Amino acid sequence: LGAWPPDRVQLGVHALILRDHGYRCDEVVVYYATTKQRVRVAVNEQLVQETLEAIRGARQLSSSDIPPPLKDSPKCPQCSLVGICLPDETNVCAEEEEAEPETPGERRQLMLFDVDERRMRVGVKRRTREDVRRLVPARDDLRPVYLATQGLYVGKSGRVLQVKEKQKVVQEIRIHETCQVNVMGNIQLSTQAIQALCQAEVPIAYFSMGGWFYGVTHGLGVKNIFLRREQFRLADIPSFALRLARALVAGKIRNCRTMLQRNHLEPPRRALALMKCMQNDAESAESMEQLLGIEGNAARIYFEHFAGMIKVGRDEPVELVEEAQEVEASGTKSKPLDFDFSKRNRRPPRDPVNALLSLAYSLLAKDLTIVCQVAGFDPFLGFYHQPRFGRASLALDLMEPFRPLIADSAVLSAINTRMVTTEDFIRTSDSVALTPQGRKKFFRAYEQRMDTLVTHPLFGYRVNYRRILEIQTRLLARVLTGELTTYPVFTTR
Ligand code: SF4
Repeated sequence: LGAWPPDRVQLGVHALILRDHGYRCDEVVVYYATTKQRVRVAVNEQLVQETLEAIRGARQLSSSDIPPPLKDSPKCPQCSLVGICLPDETNVCAEEEEAEPETPGERRQLMLFDVDERRMRVGVKRRTREDVRRLVPARDDLRPVYLATQGLYVGKSGRVLQVKEKQKVVQEIRIHETCQVNVMGNIQLSTQAIQALCQAEVPIAYFSMGGWFYGVTHGLGVKNIFLRREQFRLADIPSFALRLARALVAGKIRNCRTMLQRNHLEPPRRALALMKCMQNDAESAESMEQLLGIEGNAARIYFEHFAGMIKVGRDEPVELVEEAQEVEASGTKSKPLDFDFSKRNRRPPRDPVNALLSLAYSLLAKDLTIVCQVAGFDPFLGFYHQPRFGRASLALDLMEPFRPLIADSAVLSAINTRMVTTEDFIRTSDSVALTPQGRKKFFRAYEQRMDTLVTHPLFGYRVNYRRILEIQTRLLARVLTGELTTYPVFTTR
């Protein structure tokens, strides 16, 4: 039995350091705990040369470009970096790019998903779904925490957060089982609690009582300065920013279209055809201004038909509808709240559906801000959304294709399953807000959506939406560091 090659080099480094400090070192010993074996290694010329060679190789590697991930390696499933490295996913995307080099004017970002057709054209062997191993768990064991009752105080005892109401402990949360803490409104956290969460790299997201996302506190986990350097460099290259923005907007339009096709009571054929054209236009937009116009028009059409996906309120008894109409006509009282929706309005939302949509987008922006920070990005510098003081532009960029799939879908599901009802809203002057109880119900609906397992269209494995947000953000990092040339936007069929 001998020591493994990497272990020999590590022992060699220790021996050289000891010798450098004036110690005599002729032999080193390694103990393998699993097999309970002690292995002796002689510190001879061969070990010294092996060690120096490995050090030279490591130095060369650190000064060169990032090497591509290993292909189908049995080492990857055990590697602690697998969730960051995404070896199979990066290799699949890179193979796609090699299989069909980009031709001028071609809109390749979106074509990545027309895999079968492209492979038939270029004669590439079809990669089966089994080729991409799902090396990351489908969903995280860690859970987000929402604190929404005003006046709560959060302290720390050992490794547990203690949530107190009027000095009585009402909830205990294990820090190591938590992935984020969301604080809505006037809730106090002790310094000890904040320190413990920062140390465990659990971000704390702050919202106003009404759900406006203010910011995040997190530990010192943002270490990938090389990625941020590339982000700042590439954000200043208009052609790169436009190429990425086209893909994100076209992906969003495609996902909005899919939502209408799947959920509308009578899918509006003309609107769907128009949106298809707009998706194509977005793919070839020549400027950011043009892209903004296309996105605005597509959003207008989508929200014109949004009401067709709301399936409650259509079977209300006639007397109730008549009563509501009378109240409205008399002008003596404000119109009773309902789930009627005509157009998107915000700041403040003026009806229950808009109140839910605003909260859902706020939660999604928060989640993508956190994912951007975890991946090493600066969430405030985007490619499509231009820099603006206090705006997490990159999070908003990445959010575009997910707005319909996560936020709108959570809203529709909360309404259509009657998880929230009109009783869960209050009207104040010309705005409508959720009651504290209604907010809690919607957090549940949003988290249910985030936890829904979906098949990744490119990689073929099933993971939940929270995991997909992280995978997509890390794929964007691959694009920025030059390992991939195009960003595969997430779209559903
Ligand atoms: S996951 Fe990445 S870093 Fe880890 S062994 Fe595989 S290729 Fe190497």
